[in-house]
Amino acid sequence: MTDSVSLTGTGLHLAFGSNRVLRGVDVHVDAGKTVTVIGPSGSGKSTLLRVLNRLHEPDAGDVLLDDRSVLRDNPDQLRQRIGMVFQHFNLFPHRTVADNIALGPRKLKKMSKDAARQVALDQLELVGLTNKADSRPGNLSGGQQQRVAIARALAMEPQIMFFDEATSALDPELVKGVLALMSDLAKGGMTMVVVTHEMGFARSVSDTVVFMDHGAVVESGVPEQLFDNPETPRLQSFLSEVL
Ligand code: ADP
Ligand code: MG
Repeated sequence: MTDSVSLTGTGLHLAFGSNRVLRGVDVHVDAGKTVTVIGPSGSGKSTLLRVLNRLHEPDAGDVLLDDRSVLRDNPDQLRQRIGMVFQHFNLFPHRTVADNIALGPRKLKKMSKDAARQVALDQLELVGLTNKADSRPGNLSGGQQQRVAIARALAMEPQIMFFDEATSALDPELVKGVLALMSDLAKGGMTMVVVTHEMGFARSVSDTVVFMDHGAVVESGVPEQLFDNPETPRLQSFLSEVL
């Protein structure tokens, strides 16, 4: 695996018109660790990820990889260092699974067709789908497609992985396999920022849990602290709804 890096967001603010979506968010993940972001719908979790990889520019604040600000870097180069997995996997339906994975390495890393296919096959082995290399995405289950989407992100050798509700669109019986893969990645030393509603995953896999509400971090800490001793009424009420 590529060396993972630490990531820090400091004092992040972002408004859409009069809607102040991020109100001074600080977040940090050490190299090789996993931070899980939880919180109600609309609290700014997805926006935070999008600011951290500069799909949105913050109105104020900074984003650092290994203590170096990336706000002046080329955003495309930054996004090559950050692998992103969304709720909807957006695989190309008319291409094979292997081609979907090989596309990034071919286009962005200028790899030869054969080298990129080998990368795709290696990644498929890692996610347990070698036998699906030449299938179309539509012939795979949702859980398998999401594992392909993870393989596609990993094929770019990211230094950090972001997951935004990667299991929310999946049928319940398919969630486990995707979470197991994410857990393996975390144990393998990938730096990860995971937005999720899966409290079991947050508790068992995260090094740090961040609870957001109304565009701010309300509480953060180790999972035992947040889940067993939530300090604020807002987190207490959130947990009573989701657990
Ligand atoms: P979460 O992921 O926690 O559900 P979001 O980050 O998606 O929350 O959204 C937080 C707020 O920001 C919501 O009020 C949402 O309507 C608003 N928002 C998100 N993206 C945009 C955008 N591109 N333009 C305008 N408003 C947005
Ligand atoms: Mg969201």
